[in-house]
Amino acid sequence: MSDPPAADTLRSMPRGSTETIRAELRLARARDKVHGAYLFEGGPGTRARELAIWFARLLLCRAGEEDPCGACRDCRLALASAGEGSERPAHPDLKWVEPDGAYIKVDQIRELQRQLSLVANEGGRRVGLILSAERLRMEASNALLKTLEEPSTDTTLILVAESSRVLPPTLRSRTTHIRVARTPETELYEALQAEGLDREDAWLASSLGGGSLMGALRWADEHLEAAREIRDLLVGLSTCGATELLDFAESFRGGEAARQRAELFLDVCGAFARRQIEASSETSDPRNTERWLRHYESATRSRQEMRRRNLNPQLIVEGLLLDLRASLA
Ligand SMILES: [Zn+2]
Repeated sequence: MSDPPAADTLRSMPRGSTETIRAELRLARARDKVHGAYLFEGGPGTRARELAIWFARLLLCRAGEEDPCGACRDCRLALASAGEGSERPAHPDLKWVEPDGAYIKVDQIRELQRQLSLVANEGGRRVGLILSAERLRMEASNALLKTLEEPSTDTTLILVAESSRVLPPTLRSRTTHIRVARTPETELYEALQAEGLDREDAWLASSLGGGSLMGALRWADEHLEAAREIRDLLVGLSTCGATELLDFAESFRGGEAARQRAELFLDVCGAFARRQIEASSETSDPRNTERWLRHYESATRSRQEMRRRNLNPQLIVEGLLLDLRASLA
């Protein structure tokens, strides 16, 4: 398993961003400091639900990697549907609760408690996932409190709510609260198109331009041309020959200029991967999501480590491109 991110790296990441949250949760798991109950809060336009499901699967996966491996028995059960067309997973230790009609009823919570009190079927952790927790009926929240007051060591409850304000304070205070921020990039993307950038360029500048319109326009002035070349290579990667890739990587040989261009390469790779993750989560394609998450993290990690550990930019670019292309084959 690779090292969890250092605390100073975490502090430098934007609060509430999905990357920060994933990094914090990985760290908790790596240090065996997973709490008994979490509340993921985030309205439409956030990835609260997706993150909560990712975390549930991470807790069950036996591979000990940064993400659920997708291949072990637990992952396969967690990814398989329990029934036709249902999102409810087949994993016997991943209990899935969502509103039955307009509300989550007390009987559903009692059933969850009964199931969580049993010995784990697969011998590991048991996870209860409560989706749309803002629709817990009062009796259901009260019943849930009992579980939160008497946490068991190998059980984790994960609540997901658009807003936590409707939940009783007693319930909120017994969970680890994770606020998932809305992405501001959509607004910026639209503003950049109004400034005359085409959609593809606006996407690059909104992803990499630092969050403000002025910053994104300045970024476009300085980097857009080089970024386009990298993006075009990534788009055509599955049909790109090995020689062409190695030649491209070789253009990152050299001094400071090559290093800076390699940083841009990793930024564009990260943004490209994130876009694929968004596209695949919209079409509920978990395997594709997993694949691109891995590439995203590999690009961001290399970006952080290249300078710190004085890594060779040509080798970094080459390794990433070959890995990407192999995963697309
Ligand atoms: Zn796994």
